Amino acid sequence: MPPLRAFSPAAYVFPLPEGHRFPQYKYAGVVERLRDRLTVVDTPGLDWALAEEVHDPAWLRRWRFGDVTREEVRNFGLPWSPEVVERSRRAAGGTIAALDDAWTHGWGINLAGGTHHAFRDRAEGFSLLNDAALAARYALHEGLARRVLILDLDVHQGNGTASLLRAESRAFTLSVHGERNYPFRKEVSDLDVGLPDGVTDDEYLEVLDRRVRPALETFRPDLVVYLAGVDVLAGDRFGRFALTLDGVERRSAWVYGWCRAAGVPVVSTMAGGYNRDPALTVEAHARSVEVGLDVFA
Ligand SMILES: [Zn+2]
Repeated sequence: MPPLRAFSPAAYVFPLPEGHRFPQYKYAGVVERLRDRLTVVDTPGLDWALAEEVHDPAWLRRWRFGDVTREEVRNFGLPWSPEVVERSRRAAGGTIAALDDAWTHGWGINLAGGTHHAFRDRAEGFSLLNDAALAARYALHEGLARRVLILDLDVHQGNGTASLLRAESRAFTLSVHGERNYPFRKEVSDLDVGLPDGVTDDEYLEVLDRRVRPALETFRPDLVVYLAGVDVLAGDRFGRFALTLDGVERRSAWVYGWCRAAGVPVVSTMAGGYNRDPALTVEAHARSVEVGLDVFA
C-alpha cells in the first residue's frame, strides 16, 4: 500500500440539479487518478462542537436542520439538503484529520476542503464551514501550533477566512487572488496580493518569490494550511488567470519545497477548480498533489 494517506469525502455525494455549475465529479475523479500513489481514507466528520467555536452556534443549528432562507441558499450556491450539510461536515473534517499527518510526515492531505468563503454566520460561494479557520483554531487551542499561516492560492480571495481570523494574531492569512474577480467586496487579510487578469506561469511564480516568501520568512509559521485551488488555470469558468498545468505543478512544488526545507508541517486542501474541460480540472488537482509526493518522498 502507498505510504502516504489522503482523506476524501468523495463517498458523500449530495443532490444537484442537472447541469449545475458545482463540479462534484472532481472529488471522485481525483481519488481515482491518485489511487495508486496514495492510500485514500474516508474522511471523518467534523465535531459540531469544534464548528461552534468558529461559526455562530444558532446559525449552524439552522443549517443543520434546514431552517434557512431562500437568500441564504442562493448565497451558498448549492441547494440545501441533509446530504450537502453532511458532505460539508466531512470535507471540513478531512482538514482537521490531516493535521496529524502533517506533524507525523510533514504533510497532511485533504482531497477536498478549502471552503474559504464561509463566514461566522454566512455561507457563500459553495462554502458552509471554513475548514482552514477551523484547522487554525483547533491547532492553536490544542497547543499543537503557535503560529499558523493560511496560504490561500485559490484564484478567489479568502474573504471568509480573513474575516474569521482577523482578531487572531497567531494566525496569518495570506491570499493571492484575482483583484477583479469574486468576491467583489474583499475582506482584509494579513497579506492580500491582488493580481490582474491573465497572469501567466512566470508572473505567478515571481509573486511567490517576491511576495509570499518574505511573508513566510517573517511570520515563521509552525503550521501552514495550503489552499491549492486550481481555478488559476487558463480556461477556468470562474478564474481569469492563464496558468498552465505546468505552472500549477510548479506552484505546488514551490509551496511544498518551502515547507519541507523550512521544516514546517503543511496541510493541503483542494479548494476551487472549475475548468471548462472537466478532465483538466481533475488533472490539475491531481498533479498539484503528485508534486508534493515527489517533494515528501
Ligand atoms: Zn476559487
